Amino acid sequence: MIPDLLERTLEQLYPPTCVLCGAPGRAGLDLCEGCRADLPENRQCCSHCSLPLPAERPAGTPCGACQRNPPPFFVCHAAFRYEDTLPALVGGAKFRARLNLLRVLAQCLAISLRERNAEMPELIIPVPLHVKRLRERGYNQALEIARTLGRELSIPVESGSCTRVLATTPQTGLQQNERRRNIRGAFRVLHTPKAAYVAIVDDVVTTGSTVSELTRVLMKAGVKRVDVWAAARTP
Ligand SMILES: [Zn+2]
Ligand SMILES: [Zn+2]
Repeated sequence: MIPDLLERTLEQLYPPTCVLCGAPGRAGLDLCEGCRADLPENRQCCSHCSLPLPAERPAGTPCGACQRNPPPFFVCHAAFRYEDTLPALVGGAKFRARLNLLRVLAQCLAISLRERNAEMPELIIPVPLHVKRLRERGYNQALEIARTLGRELSIPVESGSCTRVLATTPQTGLQQNERRRNIRGAFRVLHTPKAAYVAIVDDVVTTGSTVSELTRVLMKAGVKRVDVWAAARTP
């Protein structure tokens, strides 16, 4: 009762405001209906890795790559396609309130997971950032998204169980097999998560080689099922 009252009071004091256009947001979301409708939802996508698929492909089928060589994670959910305004939103390049944007993307991801009746894990683990990158950027986008998701979905978040030991060169411009080689050995599990079923969280999934590598490392450490949750997936 008291948390409800507190939430209502806070909402009256700071009504949700769209981070993109300044119009009133909707309850618990700093995004207006119009701006949310303009974001490229990733509905027509691979049933396993969430790769955006052309409209003519039957929904709920795996993409060619997943049919040939299924990734080690159980399933990937990505709320948006990484196109249109998404790169600017994720990068926060044009906006000052970057952390607000990440929070909104995480809220949208929580809504999309609920709408798609996604199974809920016992634990959320953000993809770790190498300490060098963390120093450059000041925060880990994946951790910021994971924190909001944890709050929205009432799932604990654990960021200390694994670490990134290799500061890999940026993956952009590399072929799929080069990316896989580039990322091998990048993560280390410091202590086994006390959960058989976890979801790893990242801001953007590009080829899936980073989340696949983290999945392998976690499963080697004893985790039974790993899902991937991302704000966006590149077409
Ligand atoms: Zn708006
Ligand atoms: Zn796929």
